[in-house]
Amino acid sequence: MNKEYVAPPYRIKMVEPIKITTKEERITYLKEAGYNPFSLRSEDVYIDLLTDSGTGAMSHFQWAALMQGDEAYAGSRSFFKFEQVVKDITGYKYIIPAHQGRGAEQVMLPQLVKHDSMVFISNMHFDTTRAHVEIAGARAIDCVIDECFDTETYHPFKGNFDVKRLEEIILDKGKENVAGIIMTITNNSAGGQPVSIDNMKKTVAIARKYDIPVIIDGARYAENAYFVKQREEGYHEKTVKEIAREVFDLADIFLMSAKKDGLSNIGGIIAIKDNEDLYNQCRTYIVPMEGFPTYGGLTGRDMEVLAVGLKEALEEDFLRHRLDQVRYLGDRLRDAGVPIQYPTGGHAVFVDCKKFAPHIPYHQFPAQSVTNALYLETGVRAVEIGSFLLGRNPDTHENLESPLELMRLTIPRRTYTYKHLDVVASGVIEVFKRREQLKGLTFEYEPPVLRHFTAKLKPIE
Ligand SMILES: *Cc1c(COP(=O)(O)O)cnc(C)c1O
Repeated sequence: MNKEYVAPPYRIKMVEPIKITTKEERITYLKEAGYNPFSLRSEDVYIDLLTDSGTGAMSHFQWAALMQGDEAYAGSRSFFKFEQVVKDITGYKYIIPAHQGRGAEQVMLPQLVKHDSMVFISNMHFDTTRAHVEIAGARAIDCVIDECFDTETYHPFKGNFDVKRLEEIILDKGKENVAGIIMTITNNSAGGQPVSIDNMKKTVAIARKYDIPVIIDGARYAENAYFVKQREEGYHEKTVKEIAREVFDLADIFLMSAKKDGLSNIGGIIAIKDNEDLYNQCRTYIVPMEGFPTYGGLTGRDMEVLAVGLKEALEEDFLRHRLDQVRYLGDRLRDAGVPIQYPTGGHAVFVDCKKFAPHIPYHQFPAQSVTNALYLETGVRAVEIGSFLLGRNPDTHENLESPLELMRLTIPRRTYTYKHLDVVASGVIEVFKRREQLKGLTFEYEPPVLRHFTAKLKPIE
């Protein structure tokens, strides 16, 4: 295993002090937050690994570009700069900005749903993508390879489609009932796991056979391209930009949360290869949803920042360091015996809490218990991705059991140092050493939907 990790290809020009708290303070804060780190004030968090979405640091080129924002309502100079960059990267003809990824989803997905009882098939739908599929009156079916759920075994592309099952689902549902095939790259929900070009080619061949549109959900398409360069035969000599273009050439539509590989704090993208009718539909529909089609909920400043950030996110020195940071944290945990999704993905280390705290049953939320213990130990905020997030069966009101109980340690871009990651690793390892003492949780207050954001919990004594 390669234990060399590259140093950052940037230096620090501005700092944001962060507060170091005492354990006593953290005990109070977590209690006040109802044992739910979503309700903590970010000020009371030392290292915040809740998400990599919109939390990265901008470069001085981006800050300088921001000053050039043209805030015209229609046809601003900033829009045309942004549009040109997205065209250059994707090769697509029609580009519309959105306020973030879910904004792009809420505009595009309803256009593809032609009648009742349609489905979208994805390797794995991200939560908001699934929500917008359902709001559009369709159903979301996941179709990822089984290796994805086996956290211990190495597979270079755990985000891949199960292509055999994909074709079976299409034949079972009837091709006229499949609204689209969504390739989520990297596969966020499975741990930022990449999808190979070979797998995408096979997926798209099936889509073409049945005349189904192909959508890229590409929040982390640049990280995916770098994994392809590292791991896939025949791609080692290609540039990340060339690899990304090969992916765009395969699909019809690109939706992006630009808060990830756009290196921006806000923003989303709708890009359409050549379907003019679809473009016109989206241009009309976006006005009441996000805003006029040349700003889509963004300011001119945001589009300037994106025009620069999208290019910086494709720089290979940046990507190598980014993925090395994540791998470094994963290696430190694995060396100490902590069970994680292996290999690590692009944006986060996922700790397997079914293995970490097997004595806590799923309905007492083992990963939430580990997440809380980590905050108390070191002031690090992670997030539960498991049964607490999954919620209840709408008919029976039983707690659903998630196939994986994960604690996600999400690494913001260009924000923390390897030394910060050492603090995170030591904290997790400390909690791991006394894992038998961890207790399950029960509800004090449970909202009816999306409970994980606002629920209040208490430890079971
Ligand atoms: C973050 C994300 C989204 C939603 O984007 P937001 O910017 O958070 O609205 C959609 N799909 C994937 C794969 C994501 O990671």
